[in-house]
Amino acid sequence: MDQQRFGDDPLAVRDTDHYKAEYVTGFVEKWDELIDWKRRYASEGRFFVDQLKERGVRNVLDVATGTGFHSVRLVEEGFDTVSADGSPEMLAKAFANGLDFGGHILRVVQADWRWLNRSVHGTYDAIICLGNSFTHLFSERDRRKALAEFYAMLKHDGVLIIDQRNYDALLDGKYGNKHTYYYCGEEVSAEPEYVDEGLARFVYRFPDKSEYHLNMFPLRKNYTRRIMREVGFQRIDTYGDFQETHQGEDPDFFIHIAEKA
Ligand code: SAM
Repeated sequence: MDQQRFGDDPLAVRDTDHYKAEYVTGFVEKWDELIDWKRRYASEGRFFVDQLKERGVRNVLDVATGTGFHSVRLVEEGFDTVSADGSPEMLAKAFANGLDFGGHILRVVQADWRWLNRSVHGTYDAIICLGNSFTHLFSERDRRKALAEFYAMLKHDGVLIIDQRNYDALLDGKYGNKHTYYYCGEEVSAEPEYVDEGLARFVYRFPDKSEYHLNMFPLRKNYTRRIMREVGFQRIDTYGDFQETHQGEDPDFFIHIAEKA
């Protein structure tokens, strides 16, 4: 599949199951080619690794493996890691990347978050869902179902880490619709093309002039925190751009760390 299909009315595409049709091969390959993993390593630093190590985490389930960036990092840091994703194309790319970056054999499992337990077995000290992935769920029912599956697959004192774009700033007009996010210098850009309370549609532009879109649900920070709490997580700490948030600042990303005990 190499063509994204949004049909005649792209703004009407607000469907959890559409993610597989959005991550077409051309988009994924180009993204991975241009977003240098070393730069990503540098910008994240040891944030996730330290959070996990501080909690004595040994085994991790990466539920949004994508092309494998975090899974490979975790394997390199010695975590016993299982790499899940709903998209077989993504898992194939992740597996190849594991071999290319250090000769690691990733343990990949195809699983949709809403029915995670059907395909992934065992319990984990930590589950990670990173790279603005949770935003692909379009209904509250799907979000609750996914969180309930994550909760059930964690050990009694397990931790869930979810990150998300700062949609509050977008929805509240702080960035405006024309805010451009650059990745990897000026080479790849992401711009919100349309935003309302139920849809954030982004356009991604590459140096060869190709364009791809993603339709995402604009999660408000406190809404994500609330549903995590309602599903049963006891403590949720939210960081902005890998630092504890301070009032009045507008980070691009939020990271929620939710503890079960
Ligand atoms: N974590 C990776 C990263 O940071 O590079 C990939 C992030 S990518 C934005 C989102 C990933 O979530 C995709 O690989 C997609 O297939 C997966 N995904 C989206 N919705 C899903 C669902 N309902 N179940 C399982 N995987 C899903």
